[in-house]
Amino acid sequence: MGVVVLKRGREKPIHRGHPWIYSGAIAVEDATPGEIVDVLDADRHFLGRGYYNPSSQIRVRLLTRDERETVDADFWRRRLRASLARRDGLIVPPRTNAVRLVHAESDGVPGLIVDRYGPWLVLQALTLGIEQRKDLIVELLVELVEPLGVYERSDEDVRRLESLPPVKGVLWGEAPPERLEIEEAGLRFWVDIINGHKTGFYLDQRENRILARRVAEGRRVLNCFCYTGGFTVAAVAGSARETVSVDTSEAAIELATANMRLNGLADRGVDDHFIVGNVFEVLRRFRDEGRRFDFIVLDPPKFAFHAHQVQAAARGYKDINWLAFRLLTPGGLLMTFSCSGVVSPDLFWKIVFGAAVDAGVDAHVVRVLQQAPDHTMSLFFPEGVYLKGLLCRVGEKSVA
Ligand code: SAH
Repeated sequence: MGVVVLKRGREKPIHRGHPWIYSGAIAVEDATPGEIVDVLDADRHFLGRGYYNPSSQIRVRLLTRDERETVDADFWRRRLRASLARRDGLIVPPRTNAVRLVHAESDGVPGLIVDRYGPWLVLQALTLGIEQRKDLIVELLVELVEPLGVYERSDEDVRRLESLPPVKGVLWGEAPPERLEIEEAGLRFWVDIINGHKTGFYLDQRENRILARRVAEGRRVLNCFCYTGGFTVAAVAGSARETVSVDTSEAAIELATANMRLNGLADRGVDDHFIVGNVFEVLRRFRDEGRRFDFIVLDPPKFAFHAHQVQAAARGYKDINWLAFRLLTPGGLLMTFSCSGVVSPDLFWKIVFGAAVDAGVDAHVVRVLQQAPDHTMSLFFPEGVYLKGLLCRVGEKSVA
């Protein structure tokens, strides 16, 4: 087993339960890539045990703080079991068969994402430590979950930080169909787990889609960054008066219209519009045309990946929120999100506040929103809390 010794005084975050050890905190490192290492403080006292990658800034991700716990097959089985157990009971609404089963660090399994889509599992190995143990992990998942197949979507950019190439394909069992049908709170969706975003579907927005369904009744809805129509289907199922949905991806829009049909919502005698276009431009066009909506959803992609991109991201968020406020009718609702981990909830409130000020509208926060609870949030790993949102109600009068 390899060993990593920290510089004096650098053990505090570890004592406080954080799983990452950065290169700058290390005095001595003696291990091979991917190996399990013991992490010691400057006095050579045991701090924890994790896997090592010399080509990542995060040199070690801790797996255990118990010196007696060996990292063998049984260890991974226990961790996966605990992760599955964490989802028992309260976390998933009825009539839902698409769930995040393992949320990496936040579930004590750094670098590993596992999503269940009905009988299939989709896995992301985001680190070298997981990459090297993928076969074992797949074997254990098959034992514990008994899926029809396990598909890999390790084609995330973050793998580059670990010097790993993108990979995807069947890991075990049957290949998934091109389109897989899932159920979310009683609504059905086609998911493309082979070519869709992330592992195929934005499972993290489940609870917020359920809320959107509840508040959409009788409203004219504008769903920006609609992807495969999750919020649109929810809003129409919730008796929205009419909907307009916008996304740049033609493939996503095609699946969104298929999802309307799948739920029997396509021929309700209302023109629900789907636009392949850039939200920044479409919002401006609607403003110039004097279009108005009663409920707008803004669920943009990640605008900031690093701390130095936060300012530019904030400008982007403010722009779309400002435009959305201007398009809302008095009493209208804005459901607005940021999935950039580096944008804090506090900053997000400020951005939305600034947008309301500039738009000259009064607004109240009806709900503070976050990722669905199968995207577990550990108190010890704030980095895993990335999705934040606000449901705002615009006042009857403008403040300007
Ligand atoms: N709300 C969706 C997930 C949104 S993901 C759901 O519940 O499933 C973000 C989406 O924004 C992606 O589909 C991406 O294609 C789209 N996108 C990115 N930049 C865009 C832009 N400038 N204009 C319109 N769509 C954009």
